[in-house]
This record gives sequence, C-alpha cells and structure tokens, in this order.
Amino acid sequence: MTEKLYYKDAYLHEFAANVTKRGCEADGQPYVVLDKTAFYPTGGGQPCDLGTIGGVEVVDVELVDEEIRHRLASPLPEEAIAVACALDWQRRFDLMQQHTGQHILSAAFDDLLDAPTFSFHLGKETVTIDIKISEVTQQMVDQVEQLANRIVRENRQITARFVDPDELAAMPLRKQPTVTEDVRIVAIDQFDYNPCGGTHPKGTAEVGMIKVLGWERIKGSTRIEFICGQRALAALGEKTRLLRQLTQQLACQEALLPEQVGRLLGVQKELEHALYEQNIKLLGYEAQELSTEAIALHQYRIVSKAFEQRSMQDLQRLAQQIAALHPDNIAFLASSGAKTQLVFARGANVQAMMNSVLKETLALIEGKGGGNPNLAQGGGVGGKPVEELLAHAVHTLQNSL
Ligand SMILES: [Zn+2]
Repeated sequence: MTEKLYYKDAYLHEFAANVTKRGCEADGQPYVVLDKTAFYPTGGGQPCDLGTIGGVEVVDVELVDEEIRHRLASPLPEEAIAVACALDWQRRFDLMQQHTGQHILSAAFDDLLDAPTFSFHLGKETVTIDIKISEVTQQMVDQVEQLANRIVRENRQITARFVDPDELAAMPLRKQPTVTEDVRIVAIDQFDYNPCGGTHPKGTAEVGMIKVLGWERIKGSTRIEFICGQRALAALGEKTRLLRQLTQQLACQEALLPEQVGRLLGVQKELEHALYEQNIKLLGYEAQELSTEAIALHQYRIVSKAFEQRSMQDLQRLAQQIAALHPDNIAFLASSGAKTQLVFARGANVQAMMNSVLKETLALIEGKGGGNPNLAQGGGVGGKPVEELLAHAVHTLQNSL
C-alpha cells in the first residue's frame, strides 16, 4: 500500500521514494508504483498531478485496484530503485486554487440560493458546477460571488482530515459522503464541511479570487462557469489586452465601445443596402446589353453567356431581368470556377421548360439542381467547359421545338 503523502502535506512537491512495482498497461504504457507518493491520482473531480520520477516524465496518475499507478513517458531504468520525485507544482497549485474555489462557490450558492451542487468539472481552462436551480439572475450571481470572495479575503482556515462516524454525525455536512469508511472531511472554518479527497491549501486567501464567467440552463438546472486565482488574473490580463486593442482600433474609450460598435453596424447596414440597390441597377444595364446581343432561334431570342466566378445570386437576378425584358427571351447563363453554376430563365411567350433543359444539361457533369419551367438553377464540379454545357442547352432546346 502506497503511503499518500498528499494527504499529510498538500504543499509537498519534492520527495524521495522507492519503486515497489514496475508494470505495463495493456496499451504498452509503462508505470511504477512507489512506497510513498505526493502525486495525487485523478479522482473526486480533481485531475492528477504531473511531474517527474527519477527524471522520467509522469504523464498520468491513476488509482487502479487500490494501487497508485504513475504512468511514465518511458520506462524507468532497471537500476532505479530509490528515486527522486518532483511534481509540476504550478499545475498542482492551480488545481488546488480551482478545487478550493469550487468548494467556496458551491457553499455560497447553497447558503444564499438553496442551490446545492450536484456536478463539478475542473477543466483545462475553466471550471463548471451544476447547481439545482432552474434560473439565476445577474444580481443573484453577483451576491454569491461577493460572499465567495469575502470568504477568500477572510483567509478562513482550511483543514482536511479523516473523521470517525460519531464526529461525522455531528458535522453540518452539505452532502452525505459516498463512502462509509475512511471519510475525509475538508472543512472551511465556520463556513463549509465537505466530504472530499482532494488537495487544498491551508487558508482560503490562497484561492486568490473567484470569478464567475457565465451560466447556462441545462435541463432544469444551471451550469455555472468560473475561474479562480492565477487563472482569473491571466483572464483579466487577456481581456485588458483585447479591450485596449479594440479601443485603439475603434478610436474610442472603453465605456463607449458598445455605442461605437452599434454605430458602425448601422453604417454597414446602410452601405449594404446602397450596394444592393446599385448592384440591381447595374444588373439591369447588363441585362439590356446582353438582350441586344440575343441570337434568334425560331421565334425565340437566345441569350447564352459564360462568366467566370459569378455568384449564383447574381446569375439568377441577371437571368430574371433578361427574361423580363422581352417575352421571347431565353437566358442560358453559366459561371465557371471551383464549381460550375447554371441558371436558365424564360420570357412570358416561351413554352420550353427551363427545368427540363437544365436537367439534361446537368447530366453532362453529374450536377444537381432544381427550379420550375420559368426559372431553374443548379451546378456541379465536372471538368467540362461551361461553353460546352451552354451549347448543349441550346441544342436540347432546339430539339424540343
Ligand atoms: Zn472537493
């Protein structure tokens, strides 16, 4: 049985130990078991510690059948029995800040809103708790955040120890322990008593700060996202940099950013509308020009034109305008590019069905499309030149007349 040094001293991050077992997981990952360890194995919502054992990188620590397995990046040399071990202390302290922050925030939600926590996830970037309440407001969250940060400022003592059943029965626990033996209670003086196997600092001040980032409703409950300590400071730095960049780009003070962005969005909308109007006008001129170049086929006037990289929307508008200019007009328009696009339209006197002509033409490139007898559009990726497709459309039309 490995002696759990992390329960004796949560701050221990360099220690010497003896290797008692070497093994290999089913996937080939080597691991060692030590006679004592300060490496916390993944559990109780807290991710495992990382670091080195005998200079070899520890990539994962897990409790498997009462055995703490330290999985290694490479096998430890055979002669290494007594080994020097070192935790990635920055990682461990960050996890202690987040985990303790979670205890405090969960307790604050329970105290002020009667909303107990039933799920906790300590992620790489943020931490979440799921609390039993269907809805929270900004004001509620502000109050909870204030209480949590007051507990941090007061530097309440945190103790973690195994208690016997009689002692346990007398404690004001928020939730009942999931184990019946060896129950470990993490107590925040006069505030919170919680069954927990994690590592915690000596006082709440070490959490630094608790900042709620947001919340969302999940099946009648609420998920709260937050960060603590160093993560909160780093996030504030990131947001400050971002805001400074925005105030420079938009040439306004931070407080005026929403107003300035609103103004710019309004200008953009106006410009888009003006551009749209101009484009419709231009397409009208283009349609007129193309219509004068129409080629006669029986009683009809064919406008067949190939473009490069023209949008489907443009092609459609243009085809419709050509069809509207003369009742005998037929527009066969195509655009080449990464994708071949076709739009066919007919004037009021034309009997030929544009969707049928399109279908036959698209068959050449195994393309897809749709539409009706008046207007049809489609496309495909086939390598055939669009001029060839247009010629085929004219030919198909001719056969149907
Ligand atoms: Zn805990």
